Amino acid sequence: MLPFELFEIHGEHEEVVYCYNKEVGLKAIIAIHNTILGPALGGTRMWPYANEEEALVDVLRLSKGMTYKASAAGLNLGGGKAVIIGDPKKHKSEALFRAFGAYINSLQGRYITAEDVGTTVNDMEYLFMETPFVTGIPVSLGGSGDPSPYTAHGTLMGIKAAVKFKLGTDSLSGVRIAVQGLGSVGSNLLDYLIKEKAIVTIADIDPEKVKRMSEKYNVTAVDADQIVTSECDVLAPCALGAVINDKTINKLRCKIIAGGANNQLAEQRHGDALMELGILYAPDYVTNAGGLMNVFVELEGYSQDRAFEKTKQVYDNLMSVFRIASTENISTNKAADRLAEKRIKLIGGIRQHQHGRTSRPFSTLKEMTNRK
Ligand code: NAD
Repeated sequence: MLPFELFEIHGEHEEVVYCYNKEVGLKAIIAIHNTILGPALGGTRMWPYANEEEALVDVLRLSKGMTYKASAAGLNLGGGKAVIIGDPKKHKSEALFRAFGAYINSLQGRYITAEDVGTTVNDMEYLFMETPFVTGIPVSLGGSGDPSPYTAHGTLMGIKAAVKFKLGTDSLSGVRIAVQGLGSVGSNLLDYLIKEKAIVTIADIDPEKVKRMSEKYNVTAVDADQIVTSECDVLAPCALGAVINDKTINKLRCKIIAGGANNQLAEQRHGDALMELGILYAPDYVTNAGGLMNVFVELEGYSQDRAFEKTKQVYDNLMSVFRIASTENISTNKAADRLAEKRIKLIGGIRQHQHGRTSRPFSTLKEMTNRK
């Protein structure tokens, strides 16, 4: 890569920090996309990237996604993300994480981290030894623990909003819902859906999980490759991304897509295609924001009750998205982006008006919380 291209691809990001410590084998990048709404929050991903450019492109993309997610969720958080280049199975050590924690600390709260693919709560504990700007730490240390139940609860609220908007009913009783993926989010969601008396079909590539859940809840299971195209009212993707793609889109037999998985559309144009087909798509980053809301509550001083209460906001957020899409005759994924961008512009404008600058000095974690 030529040096001048580096500035081109940094594009609209506020700050990109390269973290290097040869002695402990640390090569990491922190990207702060936007802090107009608050400190940039996003997890640390550890992945064996083929090269440094691949890691940079990933962290820039992911951090921008966090700006949109936090804004659409109505949170006073900006967007950021970090990547550590390395194999999580081979290259982890206390020294590596503590060296990385010192880098996070040097940003004085402009970036706050959390767990992501390849990092665990134990790694967060090492970071916490060097910096208070870390979330997702154990409950025993004042953290919020596993975010999945909150992601699942927010997703339930998202399904309710979509069912209300599309089918005109407040109840999920008798609504046919197909859940793809029975991991941390899917299994918690299943529990909620059964309590709501929905008629649920499940699938997972792991037969053990399917067996366990079918026995526990007496629900119907279908093959993993059939769930996406099964006939239902709501398809709830809770596994991997890109389930809505060129191969599946014309075979869909659902009225609504609302689930917890990230990046459900293989490409943004699939959102337009769903609109053409008359399928209501609840944009993934608005629907699965419950986990982020939970972490936000951790910053304020954690309370489980408050976190659950907060995830109910997903309902109203999605209703706003559906209304924008309907009024402006655009796809719901475009409407979600518009909602997120509008909030940043409006709040940024208020702050500019009050402080004479676009970027106000946001609260640091120390000011926001009573931690450390
Ligand atoms: P997980 O790894 O615990 O569960 C994923 C499940 O999907 C596994 O049981 C896996 O066997 C199954 N699966 C994989 N491919 C499948 C396929 N083709 N068909 C059916 N099942 C398949 O992950 P998770 O934490 O439950 O996350 C699920 C999704 O939600 C991911 O896309 C994740 O990025 C997203 N998400 C999770 C959270 C959270 O709080 N955990 C927050 C936001 C978004």
